[in-house]
Order: sequence, then C-alpha cells, then structure tokens
Amino acid sequence: MKNIAILGSTGSIGTQTLAIAREQKDIRVWALAAGKNIKLLESQIREFEPKLAAVWEEEDAKQLRLAVSDLPVKVVSGMDGLIEAAVIPESEMLVTAIVGMLGLRPTVAAIQAKKQIALANKETLVTAGHLIMPLAEQYGVSILPVDSEHSAIFQALNGEGANRIHKILLTASGGPFRGKTRAQLADVTLEDALKHPNWSMGKKITIDSATMINKGLEVMEAKWLFGTELDRIQVVVQPQSVIHSMVEYEDGSILAQLGTPDMRLPIQYALYYPQRRPLSGKRLDFFALGSLTFEKPDMETFDGLRLAYEAARRGGNMPTILNAANERAVAKFLEKKINFLEITQIINECMLHCSYTEHPDLDAVLDTEQAVYEWIESRW
Ligand code: NDP
Repeated sequence: MKNIAILGSTGSIGTQTLAIAREQKDIRVWALAAGKNIKLLESQIREFEPKLAAVWEEEDAKQLRLAVSDLPVKVVSGMDGLIEAAVIPESEMLVTAIVGMLGLRPTVAAIQAKKQIALANKETLVTAGHLIMPLAEQYGVSILPVDSEHSAIFQALNGEGANRIHKILLTASGGPFRGKTRAQLADVTLEDALKHPNWSMGKKITIDSATMINKGLEVMEAKWLFGTELDRIQVVVQPQSVIHSMVEYEDGSILAQLGTPDMRLPIQYALYYPQRRPLSGKRLDFFALGSLTFEKPDMETFDGLRLAYEAARRGGNMPTILNAANERAVAKFLEKKINFLEITQIINECMLHCSYTEHPDLDAVLDTEQAVYEWIESRW
C-alpha cells in the first residue's frame, strides 16, 4: 500500500493523481488540500476518505465541515492547514500539485518530516532550489519529478550511475503561438493563449507555455533536480510533444523517453518509482505519427525564455523575482487586465527594479515575493 497526501487535489495534476489511485487500488490517500473548489473536494473526500482535508479560506472550511459532517474527516484551513496536510503522519509521500509559490513552506515542512516528494510544483525549485535540494539531502528524502520533461530526464538517467551528463535536451512544444511574430502576439486573446496544442493543463501553466516562461522555469527546475550547469541545458522545440526530453552523455549517446502526451505516466512513475505499472490509455503509434520535427526556440519573440535564462544565470533571488512577477502578471492576464505581451514586460521591469539579494534564505525568498507583488500593484 502507498500512503500519500496531495496538495492541489482539485487541479489538473491532483485529479490525475487521484485517477491513478482509483485505477491502481493500492494507494491510500490520507490528506487532500485544495483552494476554492469545495464541491469537487467534497466528492473526493467521499470517494477517497482522507483523514484530513485542507482549504485556503476558513469560510470555505466551515462550509465543507458542514457538508462532510457525516464523515470522520478533519477540515482545516490556511497555510497551517496546508502544512498539516503535508506532514500528516500516516503518509509517506507528498504530491505537490498546488500552483505557485504557495507550495514552498509545505514542501519544506514535508521534507523535514521525511516525506518523499512527488514534485509537480516547479515554482518551489525555481525559487528555492538552493534550499530545497540540500534540505532533501540532509533528511534523506527523494524529490521525484512529476513534470513530464523532468520525468523523461530522470528515466534517461536510470542506471547511468556516475556517468556524467554532457547535455540535457529539454523539449518544448512551442505552445499555441509557435511561429508567430511579436507583432502578431500583440493581438492574441486569452482564449487563444489557453488553447495548448498538445497538453490539457491548469490555466496558469497553459499561459506559461504560451509565453514559453514555462520552459524557462523548467530549465531552472532541471538545473536543481539534476545538478547540471545552465550551459548544459538546451531547449529543443519538438512540436509533436512525443519526445519528452533527452540526455546526451559524454560519448555522444543520447537517451530519450517517448510517449503520448499523458501526464498520468510521469505522475504514476513518480508514485511507484522505481516500479513501472500498467497504465490504460492511448499508446504511441509511430506509423500514425509519421515524423518528428525539431526547431530552435525563438528567444526574441518569446523573450520570457531569455529572461528566465538571465534570471537563472544571476541566481540569488532573481528567479523568485521572475517567478513572482510572472505569477502576478499571469493572474492579471487571466482577468483580462493586461495584454499578452505585457506579461513579459512586467517581468522585465521587475527584474530591473526589484532589489537583488545573492543568498536568500526562505524568509528572504518569501519577502521577495511580497515585494514584487507590491511593486506590481503600485504600477499596474
Ligand atoms: P491547476 O490550476 O489545475 O490546479 C491547482 C491546484 O492548486 C488546485 O487544486 C487548486 O485548488 C490548488 N490551489 C490554488 N490555490 C490554492 C490555495 N490558496 N490553497 C490551496 N490550494 C490551492 O494547476 P495544475 O495542476 O496545472 O498545476 C499544478 C502544478 O503542477 C503547477 O506548479 C504546474 O506548473 C505543475 N505542472 C502541471 C502540469 C500539468 O499538466 N497540469 C505539468 C507539469 C507541471 P482549487 O482549484 O480548489 O482552487
């Protein structure tokens, strides 16, 4: 029996994690945490019978307590509630499927409580990889990637022991606006940006894919997860999203992981690592696929990727500045308060004006997040 807790159970990764639990039948879910979707959370509680459920607002918690008063589940709220869910004693693994920097404190608490981490919440490593990776090592905790690209890299590293990585080839679909010019991007709508060609995901990451900021965040995630220098991580556009990423070794061998674009595969791989389990669904058919194509990323049009490399190179709290600015700018774009190109303009402005710290601890990372939010609110 696998004993797990899930932060973000009502989202895209969270519901797919529960779909795996439903299919595999040997996963016991001890805690579920969500934001506002208490209707879905209630039905998840009824189906999976966790001991603890967490929501963000106390008002929602009160409503949920009433709705599930016939069940022996404790309902909590706020950051304390998220942390309680993350460290619930019965669970051995935390699935971090929450969106944004909110995942940071609960992940730190879970590592300190020696929970294995199935990490979808890439923002945790982007902003605090320098703290999370040594902490995980100190507590003997594995960080198992859920992101499909990082899962692919992780799989391509299996059995390679001390063999050195020459290059990580991080694949990207290019998003819905691949091939467009900057002038064309000026007019794109929210609805256009939400139409990802290959993957069905939450709204924030779908917009991050349209700006290609997502790929920039993934470069940083890969740097921390695999201890690789930035210059050895190369983004390759592979529009069919069939090659999920590759590792090139010193002898020139390139190992890749391929499959249909289905997030359940990397989620299940993280849950059961190193075991592979059967998985229902479509299989890759090379004859139907016909061909695979490759392109260089266009960092002039998609300047978010360039900014992310710059933030990663500068290090310190710069990735946090980029990430927090992106979170707030994407929220504004989703509310139709800014246009598409303004997302990276806001990030650029924040990187120029928010104050830089070279060695931020956890509090400094969270203070940076607040400072960026305040700076943006004072201008946009
Ligand atoms: P979604 O937007 O679909 O889901 C986000 C989840 O976080 C929801 O359960 C939401 O709850 C919860 N949440 C939001 N705010 C709060 C809060 N204040 N307190 C508690 N819970 C909260 O996101 P995704 O599943 O797409 O992404 C989750 C993470 O995984 C992100 O970091 C993303 O980058 C990463 N990822 C996602 C992939 C994908 O295919 N979706 C692929 C690779 C990585 P509610 O809906 O109830 O408000």
